[in-house]
Amino acid sequence: MMVRWLCLIGALLLMQNALAYSAGPALVATANRQLWPEPVNTPQDFDKASRAALLPYVLAIQEQQKLSDKDMLAAFKIKSVNRASVDKWVAKELGLALKNYQLAAKDCTDADWTCLGNVATVNDLLAKAASARDKTPPPLAAWRANLAGFAHTYIAEQLRLAALFPKVSSEIDRFNDNEHNGDKFADRQFFLSFDDGPSSAGGSTDEVLAMLAQHQKSAVFFVLGEKFQNRLQKTNAAALAGLYGPQCVASHGWEHQSHAKWAQWQDSIKRTQTLLSQVISKDNLLPLFRPPYGQRKADSSAFFQSQFLQVELWNLDSQDWNAKVGADDVVNRMMALMLIKRHGLLLFHDVHAKAKTALPLLFNELGNAVVWSDCHLLV
Ligand SMILES: [Zn+2]
Repeated sequence: MMVRWLCLIGALLLMQNALAYSAGPALVATANRQLWPEPVNTPQDFDKASRAALLPYVLAIQEQQKLSDKDMLAAFKIKSVNRASVDKWVAKELGLALKNYQLAAKDCTDADWTCLGNVATVNDLLAKAASARDKTPPPLAAWRANLAGFAHTYIAEQLRLAALFPKVSSEIDRFNDNEHNGDKFADRQFFLSFDDGPSSAGGSTDEVLAMLAQHQKSAVFFVLGEKFQNRLQKTNAAALAGLYGPQCVASHGWEHQSHAKWAQWQDSIKRTQTLLSQVISKDNLLPLFRPPYGQRKADSSAFFQSQFLQVELWNLDSQDWNAKVGADDVVNRMMALMLIKRHGLLLFHDVHAKAKTALPLLFNELGNAVVWSDCHLLV
């Protein structure tokens, strides 16, 4: 009987851990990019689609900003709301949307319905976006409704993270300037990143690397020390370094655990760095640490600096790990987010096969509209 109770308590503790660690929202935002009737493969076409996407996006932020704490507790199924963190995210996001709209509007013409004249402040943008809502060309009604739905769900994902921060840390905010998230990149500049690998030999990591080589694209792989060691034990250091070729490698910790809660988190980071430095050349091993689930301690800055590591978060989450999200959903979601955010660090997982299918579509559809940057420029 005692054993049975202990098992039950153990199972409950595990469940509680799983709930505390899961950063995933109940509903994941995906759009339908086919509803936008024009190409997005030149900077000019990208700018027009970007202006169009930003209009429903800012209105959706304005709408959800009105949610009370009680509404958020119920909608996000969380136990407390940090209102200051929510307000900070809303202000930051509206400021970014304004800047992005201005960048996207630099070649505007009067005949274009996405061009709203001089937009100098967030309030200007909100007012003009509201009046542009009624001027959306009728053939774009389905596009607009779809994008508004995407924006609503995506903003709910972000508000949930903001409401939980810093009790549950994540990519939603930074604790200090030694932490980065892709917000600072130049307009239309993007970086690719892959977490949780490597897979076993011949698996999805190998396939993702081959896909990147074929498309001449660069990425950073945030590997788990434990998995990297497993793969190393079946081959040798030169062959494993060769597998990654010219791509960048950095640390995702030894095990996939929250580095905000795990007692051995410092050991996890040191051990992984030691292993990686024995295999990956100095040039390709970036001094970055990406915390699993984005979870790290608020006061961990001194430790990371003592290890000469920077915390590298992300700002464009593909949700490709999520079983409810297919490869085409990933393309749809990333296209919408890239048009709205206009720069950043994309998060994929090389232990899943979706990026292998999704990314070539994104590369192709975006043509020369964006810059896919070399991973070495991250530091
Ligand atoms: Zn991870």
